[in-house]
Amino acid sequence: MTSSASSELERSPGSARAAFTDAALKDLWLEILKEIEPKLQRSQFITWFKDTALLGLEEGTLIVGLPLPMFLNWHMEHYRTMTMEIAQTFQPDVRQVVYKVDIALRDNPERSVNLLDYFPEQKRRKLPGKQEIKLAEGLVSKILNPRYSIDNFVVGGSNRLAHAACLSVSNQPGGKYNPLFLYGGVGLGKTHLLQGTGNAILKNMPKATVVYTTTEDFTNQVIEAIQHQKMEQLRKRYRLVDVLIIDDVQFLANKERTQEEFFHTFNALYEERKQVIISADRPPKELHLEDRLISRFERGMIADVSAPEYETRLAILTEKAQEYGIFLDQSVLQFIAEHVTQNVRELEGILMQAVALYELEQRMPTIKSIADIMRKLNKDPYIAEEKIGFDMPLKKQSTFQEVLEATSRYFSVSVQDMIGQSRVKEILLPRQVAMFLGKKYLRVSYVRMGEIFSNRDHTTVMNACEKIEQKLHNDPQLLREVRALEQELGFV
Ligand code: ADP
Ligand code: MG
Repeated sequence: MTSSASSELERSPGSARAAFTDAALKDLWLEILKEIEPKLQRSQFITWFKDTALLGLEEGTLIVGLPLPMFLNWHMEHYRTMTMEIAQTFQPDVRQVVYKVDIALRDNPERSVNLLDYFPEQKRRKLPGKQEIKLAEGLVSKILNPRYSIDNFVVGGSNRLAHAACLSVSNQPGGKYNPLFLYGGVGLGKTHLLQGTGNAILKNMPKATVVYTTTEDFTNQVIEAIQHQKMEQLRKRYRLVDVLIIDDVQFLANKERTQEEFFHTFNALYEERKQVIISADRPPKELHLEDRLISRFERGMIADVSAPEYETRLAILTEKAQEYGIFLDQSVLQFIAEHVTQNVRELEGILMQAVALYELEQRMPTIKSIADIMRKLNKDPYIAEEKIGFDMPLKKQSTFQEVLEATSRYFSVSVQDMIGQSRVKEILLPRQVAMFLGKKYLRVSYVRMGEIFSNRDHTTVMNACEKIEQKLHNDPQLLREVRALEQELGFV
């Protein structure tokens, strides 16, 4: 690391003793952030360092300001050591990092470093405002969404063949997989793959004429051409296409005239070894279309996309969370992946709600808030409740489950471990804290708590609660942690 240009930031021993002006603190924080940034995922960095500031440096204590109480624990657990080590490279006599929550830091660029200004995102290509582009010769194609690429399509058993076929076609359009026919249910990634393939072909061959159209649009074009007696022109135009992508051909059913036009276009392109890519919600044989069209579809490569399995769903969520620039706890992603099983679009929908929750309300999505979202969307009104509660009718116990969930998240241990047998230190503390909170706020009896925690004796629970009670008097870090939990759980 090179030393900073600003003299106040130079690593001279003892300089921490000098009073720091606000501007100098801000500069120092910026230098520290510059070192932290490359060590984290972007979404993590933005999420946890937005609106943070350096509030002071006094006698070797670096005071870092955080905009929200919920940041406290996360910083202490994940970033304190890193922050201290980096700070020491600028100010060798820094001995400790302490945190102070100051809600006024939010959106206060005077005091905090505006991350987005200093650490701009590598620009993604912006979506053009209009929906269609005019190609040469009056051809119309829907805009290919640059968000869809073959690379950012998550591959699993449910879609491996379809993905491989698209990849092959993108490298060699008009080659052996022609036509390429993808089929599968709603929201499983057909349009993503179709457009991703179009994007990839255009990247490899910028001059190619790639037309992506929905069946509905194609039908409208045919109707319009018939009305204006311009059928011949439409045909001619489509003959100039290098790659024709047509989405959702099941909607050609009962549209004889459009089917006929499509048949001729298809033949003309096929004979010239131009690539045709088709999607539908079912395999060719089951489409209610003319036999000759079906037999054309069956000439090439047919691949299905089905509902992704758990691991793929989790991988998709992880990928999308990164795309949206939000960092979510693994347990939250797992929870979504466990409960939304049939449709990737829904999976994304829940994620978007979580993003909104974070952006609009500055709340870090938790399993509970996601379960609430699902309930509101009527996804499965019962499942979330069942999942997060014990199988007990009493409301109290399900709230104690929330205590367990929150504590496990805070201390990054699993609920299973917390209620299990392990006696390692990392698990002992969160277990005792959960017991303490359960007793103090929910009045769960020692006996009942003992049962929940793998049938421990009630005296063990009692001792644990007392221990935490005592520790709170002389362990400020624990006090902060318990306070943060109490706050998250709405107890205080
Ligand atoms: P379909 O056309 O089959 O109805 P879409 O292609 O519109 O489905 O997919 C719905 C959403 O799910 C899109 O935002 C898409 O990006 C996403 N999606 C589906 N499958 C995957 C996958 N395997 N990897 C990444 N995103 C996916
Ligand atoms: Mg689609």
